[in-house]
Amino acid sequence: MARVPAVATTSAVAAEAARRRTFAVISHPDAGKSTITEALALHAQVIGEAGAVHGKAGRRGVVSDWMAMEQQRGISITSAVLQFAYRDLVINLLDTPGHADFSEDTYRVLTAVDCAVMLLDAAKGLEPQTLKLFEVCRARRIPVITFINKWDRPGNEPLALLDEIEQRINLRPTPITWPVGIAGQFHGVVDRRTGDMTAFHRTPGGATAAIEERLDPAEAARRHGADWQRAVEELDLLTLTGADHDQDAFTAATTTPVLFGAAVANSGVRQLLDVLATHAPAPQARPDLTGRPRPVDAPFAGFVFKIQANMNKAHRDQVAFVRVCSGRFTRGMTVSHAPTGRPFATKYAQQMFGADRETIDEAYPGDVIGLVNATALRIGDTLYDDPPVTFPPLPSFAPEHFAVLRAADAGAFKRFRRGVEQLDAEGVVQVLRSDRRGDQAPVLAAVGPMQFEVATARLETEFGVTTRLEHLPYRATRRTDRGGEEALRGVTGAEVLVRARDGALLALFTDDWRMRAISDRHRGLTLDPLLATS
Ligand code: GDP
Repeated sequence: MARVPAVATTSAVAAEAARRRTFAVISHPDAGKSTITEALALHAQVIGEAGAVHGKAGRRGVVSDWMAMEQQRGISITSAVLQFAYRDLVINLLDTPGHADFSEDTYRVLTAVDCAVMLLDAAKGLEPQTLKLFEVCRARRIPVITFINKWDRPGNEPLALLDEIEQRINLRPTPITWPVGIAGQFHGVVDRRTGDMTAFHRTPGGATAAIEERLDPAEAARRHGADWQRAVEELDLLTLTGADHDQDAFTAATTTPVLFGAAVANSGVRQLLDVLATHAPAPQARPDLTGRPRPVDAPFAGFVFKIQANMNKAHRDQVAFVRVCSGRFTRGMTVSHAPTGRPFATKYAQQMFGADRETIDEAYPGDVIGLVNATALRIGDTLYDDPPVTFPPLPSFAPEHFAVLRAADAGAFKRFRRGVEQLDAEGVVQVLRSDRRGDQAPVLAAVGPMQFEVATARLETEFGVTTRLEHLPYRATRRTDRGGEEALRGVTGAEVLVRARDGALLALFTDDWRMRAISDRHRGLTLDPLLATS
């Protein structure tokens, strides 16, 4: 009897990887990220009704938003993963928090995607948070697809929007579709590859996919006269300037395919899925700590990009989200935990679909698995099946806000300590310590002050500890070493603390001026910049 050769299994994994598209949407709050998430899921026919994915106050159903606080504020604080099928593909959409205060969390999510969709509001163009997130994509060379949203409302000229993208972020726009009708009078889009127009007819309430009608150029001209003519002229201009899709330039992140649409009416969303399917990169070999790539069909390996507690109120638990980078993951398999070299049993591995859980049997490169109650795992940890591999650690942002945290009731210290460790493990805040300040008064460091609110609210609701925050006047942070710690001891306006997460020594200064004055006085002081958010 013939045995299946090992190579067959290997290529089966490669084929599964090739079917995956793993991406995140980057946008400024209110550009329509939640709306387009609904619309994508609707077109991919996993969730039949658009309202089901939304988590904003007053709307029904929550998949990607978890916390009560988030619902009150109507912003997305935490990230979830949606998986859906489209054609013969498996699409993983990783949700990212929109608020600038949570950009550190977003950054970590972006380490786990192969592509990003940059969502712009047609009337607003590039907004501050979009720019910040785009810079993260640029630093990681993540290919970006641009979706210009809200075309059903008055907005900017399409050519002006392209110009803004090219001038401000030096990314060459290569439109795939082009709008017929100015923003506010949207009839449909021309597919530049075929020259045909797709007309969109809105369905009442937008709860089902938009009805699309294919028009050849003659019919489009007959129905849409001047609007069609204008689109044709603009298209000629694009062709003249060579703004055509080039797959290599796109995957090298120097050009961006552009689509136009209105997520609220589900218009242009199928075209976005098609571009994801045909152009977005499938998972590739991921470089390890030494830069050596681990091929997708090597044995299983992945890394933790997010940890979150209490996703399910009924079972107090913690979930570590692992992006699969290579191999086949099967439920119950025992893998190795790179930082400790210890075996790690995954028998409770579950795939996350918002608040509903589905136990999965297998996962492939590009997929995300949620490991429940894996308290030994930390953000950035690698898990693997032999041969061993360690992926690079996830960088942290330079914190800009600092506060001493104390339990209001000294008797609650045990719970306080457990809670602080949990928040640190999840990366909700960075926890800094020093011998001088002691265990009872750690310093919390954050990129945005809202992280403090989340931390204290969670200590209260999940650990039953009321806390007090005392804000510290530090504004500038640098990485230093033992020599720096010695030199800065007792210096006014400066302090050195140890980051609990990785043991890094951080020097904090009340302002940039003081930092420069101190470093002028202490020649040879090591003060390295941390990754900044702006
Ligand atoms: P998020 O903050 O980026 O998640 O934005 P939402 O998806 O919550 O959308 C913000 C607001 O813009 C909501 O009131 C949406 O209904 C609206 N919106 C989203 N997409 C469109 C669109 O294509 N056209 C119009 N007119 N409104 C939209």
